[in-house]
Amino acid sequence: MLAKPATSSAGVALLRLRCPRCHQGPLFTHSALSLTKFDEMPESCPVCGQHYEPETGFYWGAMYISYGLAVGVVVVAGFLTYFLGHDPSTWVYVTVVAGCMVLLTPLMFRYARALMLYLFGGIHYDPAAAARRSAAD
Ligand SMILES: [Zn+2]
Repeated sequence: MLAKPATSSAGVALLRLRCPRCHQGPLFTHSALSLTKFDEMPESCPVCGQHYEPETGFYWGAMYISYGLAVGVVVVAGFLTYFLGHDPSTWVYVTVVAGCMVLLTPLMFRYARALMLYLFGGIHYDPAAAARRSAAD
């Protein structure tokens, strides 16, 4: 397998949902648009072999991050509706916020898990990890 150039910035790798160790391997197996499989992660990084679940039940904590992201979406959608719609009636707020929540659920789920892994996974960037793994194979 040809290795792509490593992304050295953890922020860019996080936004691209890449492995926190090599910044190359994808954290998820399917597209966020796949409604039935958007949540599936490989057991380990296909590039460097980093295990994606540091301990059993590790991603339970991602629910709290996801809750925070959801609150942010509700606040931003509510303010945008207020300012762009010139304070419309309540049903417009409910429809816009609910629509945003449904549409953004796959992204919030993925970024909550990625943030959990980057912040609490104890994994450090190692640009040579992929090279060591391909040499071992
Ligand atoms: Zn990796």
